[in-house]
Amino acid sequence: MIITDAQHLLDDKGAMAALRGPAKALAEFHADVIAYATDFDDSGVRQPLCFKCKKDTVKAGLAQDDAIVWRCPRCDVEGRISNWQGTLWDLSDRPETPTGRPV
Ligand SMILES: [Zn+2]
Repeated sequence: MIITDAQHLLDDKGAMAALRGPAKALAEFHADVIAYATDFDDSGVRQPLCFKCKKDTVKAGLAQDDAIVWRCPRCDVEGRISNWQGTLWDLSDRPETPTGRPV
């Protein structure tokens, strides 16, 4: 299982840390998983493609302790992301317009 602290994906300004190669791909994957898992309004965030097999999309949701858990049904890689709240990709607190559509 891949355990990730979302704060480690960020630089000191809250943007994605400047990573290269596989580390960057993994960071981008985690960002996509956070956005997908926190898109409670189902506003159309696409399901992230598995970073490992790149053949299937991962399933993601919240665990009881609010960590994001994700799993690829094809290659069985799975992980857990903590401290995602308030990151750039956290969509859970997004303000809404009177029509109910995300701003
Ligand atoms: Zn996979």
